[in-house]
Amino acid sequence: MKKWLALSLIPLVSLTGFLACDDSTQVSAPPDGGSPDSGSPDAGNAFRSLANPPAPVPTAVGRGGAAATVDVRATLAAIEILKLGGNAIDASVAAAAVLGVTDPFSCGIGGGGFMVIYLAKENRFVTVDHREKAPKAQTASLFYAEGKRIDTNEIIASGLSVGVPGTVRGWDEALRRYGKKSLGEVLQPGIFVAENGFVVDTTFVDQTKRNQARFQRVSSARKLYLTDAGEPRAVGDLFKNPDLGATYRKIAEGGTRVFYEGEVGQKIVDAVRQPPEANPPLRPGVMTMEDLANYDARVRLPVESTYRGHTVVGMPAPSSGGMTLAETLNILTPYTETGDRELHLHRYIEASRLAYADRNAFHGDPEYTDVPLQGLLSPAFAQTRRALITDTAATGSAKAGDPYAHQSDPSPGRPPVQPPALDTSPGGATRETTHLTVTDSEGNIVSYTFTIEFEGGSSIVVPGLGFILNNELTDFDIPTDPNAKAANILEPGKRPRSSMTPTLIFKDGKPRVALGSPGGSTIITTVGQTVINYLDFNMPIAEALASPRVSERNIVVTPGTDTKSTAEPAFINSDIGTKLKARGHQFVEMAEIGAATGIQFNEDGTLTAVAEPVRRGGGSAMVVTP
Ligand code: GLU
Repeated sequence: MKKWLALSLIPLVSLTGFLACDDSTQVSAPPDGGSPDSGSPDAGNAFRSLANPPAPVPTAVGRGGAAATVDVRATLAAIEILKLGGNAIDASVAAAAVLGVTDPFSCGIGGGGFMVIYLAKENRFVTVDHREKAPKAQTASLFYAEGKRIDTNEIIASGLSVGVPGTVRGWDEALRRYGKKSLGEVLQPGIFVAENGFVVDTTFVDQTKRNQARFQRVSSARKLYLTDAGEPRAVGDLFKNPDLGATYRKIAEGGTRVFYEGEVGQKIVDAVRQPPEANPPLRPGVMTMEDLANYDARVRLPVESTYRGHTVVGMPAPSSGGMTLAETLNILTPYTETGDRELHLHRYIEASRLAYADRNAFHGDPEYTDVPLQGLLSPAFAQTRRALITDTAATGSAKAGDPYAHQSDPSPGRPPVQPPALDTSPGGATRETTHLTVTDSEGNIVSYTFTIEFEGGSSIVVPGLGFILNNELTDFDIPTDPNAKAANILEPGKRPRSSMTPTLIFKDGKPRVALGSPGGSTIITTVGQTVINYLDFNMPIAEALASPRVSERNIVVTPGTDTKSTAEPAFINSDIGTKLKARGHQFVEMAEIGAATGIQFNEDGTLTAVAEPVRRGGGSAMVVTP
């Protein structure tokens, strides 16, 4: 009963693609689960430019629309779709499909993600949650054998960690509701790049190298991503993925049904239940065709908060990104001495520590977990957290606060026992996931983060289909005690908590910045620090995004020691880093944190698209009219 009540109160616009679709006039294909209009089947003509993309640049200024991604071909695909009359939603899906080819270890149709969208004509925000789900037959107990948690690496590379993929449903949902083009049309650039190939760069090779042993183990991954000699491809090699091209073609022609109810789906289920030959073998999962057929994207209202007179629009649960960012900024709001950057960053680090303590305790899939959203977002709750911040760094782990005391909506009843904050494990790498940002000439904006979770996902390439399945179910808390209860414990059908933080910042009803980043649980801090750089330190977005990063997540970074922040060397070695150490902050070096992209909307009507100049090999920003 309580769960049902909570369900009715969460900001859920619609439970399925066609229930309560308030945008039905924009639906361009029949409600049969397919997008049979494949548009121009001749990917070659319109997208020939993708064969010879220009050298990537991290900043571009101009008009008429803009895009920023980690990859020049993906950015170019977005720009080409805009030039062909597509809007930002169309262009973002086109770019994402190209990234599925060129950035396959971070994202793709084997995974899921979150899109935050601004619809200019209607002046409203929506989000499309296409996060992976646990299969119906999967319980938390499957992560344990003989009462003990299965070795983490064995969970990471297994059928057990594969969530029901949401990406294709999410793309289709976003296009049908808000796009101008069909899924079939916007898949064409991805088909072109998959079939004609692309020249692999250092980033691709490094990603393959880091996964070499994992791919070596699994026959289908070895076949696709390693040479016959079992080596990564060399920088400069042309890499083609005709299997993925054919899979995209099938989806373009047959619609989402091919993926969720047809031959693609069957091969996914087979690969999960009976993983490809591997040495040693991979543990199987329990996904069924019913799980795929029942997968729905969710269109949710975003989290909106206010900071320095700006509206910050972010992703709600099951991502913890929007809420944790909003709580961090709420804690910082009364501090006005932002001219003292070191002091403000000290407070930011402390605020982040406290917000993560709350994140870890309270956030989960809102359809399963009664997240006390209102309390967590209330200024009065932020005040209780701010009261804990002193002029020196806190020591030890921060404990969660009491949002229930500030929750006037009674539906998320206070649990009898405060759930433990389980996510205090060592911080992971930050090389997974990807973020892209797009706007069009009408002013629509898409801030889109999507992922297959770990770099290289589950390492299961679906045989013959050319893409890697996610291991998103590792985003659930998997405590050593199999009976532990927590907000983010796996339950059948549940979505794992995410950190993805696609964000839009508006002032006086006008867009100022759109941004987001990959990087596991450092995503929220990457976005948070960039927002502070931009709004508090008045940095232009390119500088805000390129600045050295620090990430405080209230976690034990080095097992057996105290909680510490992670930071990039340039941050640790800066004057500010030195002063922060004098306040008691401890930093563990992380070579790179995040790989953000963003767009700044300038006063004169121009757009500044921005990608990383250095991190992850540098990204690509472009505008329609420079
Ligand atoms: N699975 C992560 C999340 O949803 C994103 C992947 C990553 O960057 O680690 O938060």
